[in-house]
Amino acid sequence: MTIRHHPSDTTLLAYAAGGLGEGLSMIVASHLAMCPRCRRQAEVGEKIGGELVDTAAPMALSDRLLDSVLARIGDAAPEPEAPPAQGRHGVAAPLGAMLPADLSEIRWRTVGPGIRQAKLPGEDGADLGVKLLRIAPGRAVPQHSHNGHEMTLIVSGSYLDEIGRFKAGDIADLDPDVTHQPVADTGEDCICIIATDAPLAFTGLVPRLMQPFVRI
Ligand SMILES: [Zn+2]
Repeated sequence: MTIRHHPSDTTLLAYAAGGLGEGLSMIVASHLAMCPRCRRQAEVGEKIGGELVDTAAPMALSDRLLDSVLARIGDAAPEPEAPPAQGRHGVAAPLGAMLPADLSEIRWRTVGPGIRQAKLPGEDGADLGVKLLRIAPGRAVPQHSHNGHEMTLIVSGSYLDEIGRFKAGDIADLDPDVTHQPVADTGEDCICIIATDAPLAFTGLVPRLMQPFVRI
């Protein structure tokens, strides 16, 4: 598995500090299970966070401190390639645990031409803001940007957008000002898992009108 797209350093640091919501954390944890590079960075982030707490010195969390923390994470030595930790259905453990044992139990709902989605509740049925998106080969998701923090982890298949090609294991961790239109590659459905702490913002007029109904 060649992973090309990773969570941002800021996201990894927030994850290590326990500052991400449950859905976003699950996406990052699933990526970490497949990505030694990010796993190493998150470990260093946790150590640095622990040291900051241990010293208990009064310290303002300035941009400079964040920069120095990020620089230290950047210095982390790479870990030798480890085989991906696989859970149910051959996908990373935290994600596999969220999927029903029988994948045919997933209740797909058509939300646009060639696009289906399914909510993915937490273990106790809680809504964590996590959903699966299934794009038929060659189909496009309407152009949109994002309100707040949203991350997409590609489970299977692949898509191409303005940023590049995203394949299984890759994470799209986009800034809110990025507008993009993912188009699934041909050959197989592209299945992604998306966690968000705010609804998407569609930019086209028709998708915007449809948004209350499709709720992509
Ligand atoms: Zn990574």
